[in-house]
Amino acid sequence: MITLKNASEIKKMEEACKISAQALAHAGNFMQEGISTYEIDHEIHKFIVGAGAKPNFLGLYGFPGSACISVNEEIIHGIPSKSKILKNGDIVSVDTGAFYDGFNGDNAYTFMVGDVEEEIQLLLQRTQESLMKGIAAAKPGNRIGDISFAIQSYVEQFGYGVVKEYVGHGIGKKLHEDPEVPNYGKEGRGPRLAPGMTIAIEPMINLSGEGCRQLSNGWTVVTTSGKASAHFEHTIVITNDGARILTQP
Ligand code: MG
Repeated sequence: MITLKNASEIKKMEEACKISAQALAHAGNFMQEGISTYEIDHEIHKFIVGAGAKPNFLGLYGFPGSACISVNEEIIHGIPSKSKILKNGDIVSVDTGAFYDGFNGDNAYTFMVGDVEEEIQLLLQRTQESLMKGIAAAKPGNRIGDISFAIQSYVEQFGYGVVKEYVGHGIGKKLHEDPEVPNYGKEGRGPRLAPGMTIAIEPMINLSGEGCRQLSNGWTVVTTSGKASAHFEHTIVITNDGARILTQP
């Protein structure tokens, strides 16, 4: 069931989203060679708790970290680890979320460490652009499929693969609510968008091929090609005038 949020609920979501976005920006300060993904997760944890919120991924379905931190061919759900040390040329997808005053925020960004190959830099830039195209399609009267189509049609022209097994989602009192927001699909299909809907749009785009698999740790999802993948996410609210991004630091 899709729940529409009233003005006071959206105000609360704004706060949760602001903390999520600030935590993500804070994580960006630590992207350097030699640091472990555990240390970055620790900084994110301190930040969110320091803001009076709860890291909403911690313990969700048993997840052991406060953030998902996925490096290079890891697409999503990377487990922060003391043995995962960042190197020059790595890309790092960080997904942070905060629970505050009864509501959730959720966002993600793929950072670069030092000198990243040009084709991977382009992948990051275009994945972020696809997110903005999806957001631009998120207006009243349109449908979820219009968001999906905007993302897929943009990235596929570059020969990239859209991850299909994992999708964006409604968000509010729960981190994952209806509807699902796939990063692939047809225009004019799916639930109709209405003011007060809050959704997380999160393209996960592979450099080569759409295939993915889960590692034996039960969490980390990697590309079957072994090549890089990018992930960018915002939580938005549909208003009468179109989408407004809530995950702004
Ligand atoms: Mg999400």
